[in-house]
Amino acid sequence: MALGWVSLYNRVQERCIMALDRYGRLIHYLRISLTDHCNLRCIYCMPDDISFKPNAELMQDEEILRLVGLFSQLGFDKFRLTGGEPTVRAGIVELVRQISQTPGVRTLSMTSNGVLFSRLAQPLAEAGLKRVNFSLDTLDAEKFRRLTRRGSLDDVWRGIQAAEAAGLTPIKINSVVVRGYSEQDAIELARLTLEHPWQVRFIEMMPFAGATEFQLTQVVTAAEIRQQLENVFGPLEALNGGRLDGEARMYRIPGSQGQVGFISTVSEPFCHTCSRARLTADGRLRLCLLNEMEVDLLTPLRQGASDAALRALILEAIWNKPWGNSLATGQVPLNRAMSQIGG
Ligand code: SAM
Ligand code: SF4
Repeated sequence: MALGWVSLYNRVQERCIMALDRYGRLIHYLRISLTDHCNLRCIYCMPDDISFKPNAELMQDEEILRLVGLFSQLGFDKFRLTGGEPTVRAGIVELVRQISQTPGVRTLSMTSNGVLFSRLAQPLAEAGLKRVNFSLDTLDAEKFRRLTRRGSLDDVWRGIQAAEAAGLTPIKINSVVVRGYSEQDAIELARLTLEHPWQVRFIEMMPFAGATEFQLTQVVTAAEIRQQLENVFGPLEALNGGRLDGEARMYRIPGSQGQVGFISTVSEPFCHTCSRARLTADGRLRLCLLNEMEVDLLTPLRQGASDAALRALILEAIWNKPWGNSLATGQVPLNRAMSQIGG
């Protein structure tokens, strides 16, 4: 692909709007970390004694809105709010309303631990949020508290029900399976799909700064979890012809209302289909979750950069998006914890 940076930039100027990387991937999905703060401390995500960034170092509402506007001018149409925990951000409902009303924003979704959703689901839905991915690794209240170090499973369960009642559907539950903690819980989580039209997706644990050794040694692969489910429920029916649906391969337990899925970032990366970029809570554009490369957007924005200059910076960064992660060769991204990037 011989498209140079200058010609790409010209294409934007001509309003031929798209952000391509040098491998020809169209990047149009932005995940925005609204904060690195969180009301839980999941063992695979952050250390118990983590210190969060001061608010002044995080993107302010008007900075987020300006960047969302610029990304949408570059053809980004799918946005997800994450964190840390996005719902602990002050003014979250109003921010969601303004992002959802930005021209070009087609879908706005959120990833949340669900703790605050019983009171936020309805206002967020009314503000324009379309869907939520809840993170839940066990249905055992005592184990939940051990995994999250402080949470209450009841709060999360009420949050999921409130989201369903508010029409934030289909409900998706993301579950990280941790060896020695929650392998058995996958079965009970998958069982939820028998009676609920939900998607329960199992994610392989990934290594980042903060709990790296643990993350590397306690991974349970998607293949293992699938085998475990088939031992209990019988052969799973492949959906979508067995092909990737976004980042997951989806299946159905015969006769169930919902679906189960597997996200195999570590054992079977899906970099060739990647369409996403991430904006960290402190305003860095991170091109790949598992690669340390980042481009600072917040500093130039605060220094008065024009929209055109910021768009050019974004396009150049996207052009240079790394092909994928290098976990297979032992390279682990250590410049941030997962909660600082936004999953
Ligand atoms: N606080 C929100 C939540 O938990 O859903 C959003 C942020 S959290 C960082 C986003 C997702 O990343 C969650 O589904 C969480 O389970 C996942 N996650 C955190 N650390 C991870 C790790 N080391 N490997 C894989 N997934 C991880
Ligand atoms: Fe918080 Fe989400 Fe990380 Fe758990 S996974 S500590 S809920 S940011």
